[in-house]
Amino acid sequence: MDTRYEWYEQRPLGGGVVRISEPRVRALLSANLWWLRGTDRDLVVDTGLGVVALRQAVPELFERDPLAVLTHAHLDHVGGAHEFRETAAHTAAAPALAAGVPASLNGPELVALLGIDTAGEAVPDLLLKSLPHPGYDPRTYRVEPVTVTRTLTDGDRIDLGGRTLTVLHLPGHTPGCLALLEERTGTLYSGDIVYDGQLIDDLPDSDRAAYRRTMQLLADLDVTTVHPGHGPSFDRARLRELAAAYLRLSDC
Ligand SMILES: [Zn+2]
Repeated sequence: MDTRYEWYEQRPLGGGVVRISEPRVRALLSANLWWLRGTDRDLVVDTGLGVVALRQAVPELFERDPLAVLTHAHLDHVGGAHEFRETAAHTAAAPALAAGVPASLNGPELVALLGIDTAGEAVPDLLLKSLPHPGYDPRTYRVEPVTVTRTLTDGDRIDLGGRTLTVLHLPGHTPGCLALLEERTGTLYSGDIVYDGQLIDDLPDSDRAAYRRTMQLLADLDVTTVHPGHGPSFDRARLRELAAAYLRLSDC
């Protein structure tokens, strides 16, 4: 069966926000994309794994020439970035994106490429639950290098018309991690900085001291909803719990 055209799942959340996910990708790499509609322009937070072309599977996403904002330089967030005319990322993430990020759909190979410590836990050989079409060869998977057309730093603002997002530079998971905050609605798009699950702070370029400062900032942030890079959205109370749990566990 050719599942290319149902590879991505779209869920409109109201208020001009659509969550796009990749349910056929295994948990480690199954990330969220967030499609935000402004009156002048659209923006897409992260671009998925890039196994299936977004232009082919979700052509309506490109109707208004959206700006793709990449929360950080990991394959499951930037695989589709080369499909966009304009891409933005933090200055600290741009060199890795231009070089082409390490990428594989083979679990053990990816873990070795990224320097992930699995603590003896088995990683599946294929990081997809099913192939997009029978002829798909996962060994051909690559992430195209991304030319960042707009570099971002902390405090930058992106105006889409009727909708403005503020860039927060929140390093720790990687040096170039950013989140977008829509102050009007109290919505935070957090990438891998915080989600409701096991956070990763032990990659070769992770920085636990920076991650602690990030979590202290998040614990005090005035938000109503967090739309993360993985898994379900959550509220401010849960954000504070997750930040407190990180600060408690990393304080040793
Ligand atoms: Zn990541």
